[in-house]
Amino acid sequence: MNHFPIFLATEGRSIVLSGGGEAALAKLRLLMKSQATIHVFAANPDAQIETWASEGKLVLHRRALQQCDTIGAALFYAADEDDAEDARTAAIAKTSGALVNIVDNLHDSEFITPAIVDRDPVTVAIGTEGAAPVLARAIKADLEERLPTTLGTLARIGKAFRGAADALPFGRPRRDFWRDYYFTSGPRAMAGGEDAVRPALDDLLETHLARTAREGHVAFVGAGPGDPELLTLKARRALDEADVVIHDRLISKAILELARREAVMIDAGKEGFGPSMTQSDINALIVEHARSGAQVVRLKSGDATVFGRLDEEIDAVSDAQISWHIVPGITSASAAVAAIGQSLTKRNRNSSVRFLTGHDMKGFADHDWSALARPGEVAAIYMGKKSARFIQGRLMMHGADRATPVTLIENASRPEQRIVGTTLADLPQTLTDADMTGPALMFYGLAPRAAAAQPIAQILQEAL
Ligand code: SAH
Repeated sequence: MNHFPIFLATEGRSIVLSGGGEAALAKLRLLMKSQATIHVFAANPDAQIETWASEGKLVLHRRALQQCDTIGAALFYAADEDDAEDARTAAIAKTSGALVNIVDNLHDSEFITPAIVDRDPVTVAIGTEGAAPVLARAIKADLEERLPTTLGTLARIGKAFRGAADALPFGRPRRDFWRDYYFTSGPRAMAGGEDAVRPALDDLLETHLARTAREGHVAFVGAGPGDPELLTLKARRALDEADVVIHDRLISKAILELARREAVMIDAGKEGFGPSMTQSDINALIVEHARSGAQVVRLKSGDATVFGRLDEEIDAVSDAQISWHIVPGITSASAAVAAIGQSLTKRNRNSSVRFLTGHDMKGFADHDWSALARPGEVAAIYMGKKSARFIQGRLMMHGADRATPVTLIENASRPEQRIVGTTLADLPQTLTDADMTGPALMFYGLAPRAAAAQPIAQILQEAL
């Protein structure tokens, strides 16, 4: 972006234009919308310019621009449609510090005037840096059609009401009020004429003030394994309506970007063995925000109900008598099993599947190893990287087949997804070789489908 758009305050300032022909007329039509004093320098001005001058819309000087004429001007337009004259006037304006635009000369201009959709005080400026005027015109035409002509009036009345609306708490309540006004109540009232709008605003404010007595709420939302497309529609809606999002470190950036722009984003940073806030800090944080009336989204990776310490947070929220609900998500085992083209259960192989954690608060987690060691068992092992050797030892001690397939899926559903197939016997070595730094899920009893018939060493080689 070479040309950076801004909106210039024009009240009490002057804009100078040199020229009296077609190009000057076109620019003046736009400039007269501003509150600046407009000085036009032209020896032979178009009759229309004379009329505007007599109506007091601009100040006409019937002569060519001279040194000193641009002193104090905010902007200068060289619109004589004559290269030499434009260069002369532009040089004068530049020495006096005005920003210079030379009509139809992008290269020597310091700024360009955008195409404008005017619903004052709502103004849309469209620019293409001179690349595609046709496109700018098409966009302008499209917006002219889409933005109701009453928008400016609504905005003007709304602006005068801002002080009254400050009675609503800052943030969501106030935003909701204005959204309601601009998109629903305002246009509806406008149908009854401009005078109907102010009383409608008073009514609307009362309704919204009553609504703010409303309490905060916590949504425990599963964000899925990382791919934003694996978010549920409910999760998206919750993010879209959140005042505060408290998220884990595993949540991908692409998902966080879906949160409402105004939402406060807090990284609670819980990840495996890394540094993190304590659980009680997180509980307190959730409660504190909800107590202040916020719609809080507690965003957890995968499904919030799977190894997410959800109950501790729910207890804290319930104890504070704050309402809550859970939005289920796709757990990483579901994404990982899809990635290897297998199913979690299969007739004549396994009629149950276990979700295990490699470690718990006390260290390596204990499980019913003898049941797991039976042929055909399938387990999705979360947080299993560090405890892989322990798990392998326990299973083999209880008689598990050394050749039982084990598959590691790192970053399931994310662009960096990696699948490594191995066996129970080779698991620790495979993990060392693979050097996985991302979150990884381990399937005990499942091999990647495509590779099922290949010797394990070959799978390993290909995967690495
Ligand atoms: N609630 C989450 C699990 C949280 S425990 C869920 O339902 O998925 C964190 C563990 O989940 C990680 O150690 C890893 O084993 C697994 N995990 C989370 N995201 C993952 C991903 N994209 N790919 C593979 N494993 C993942």
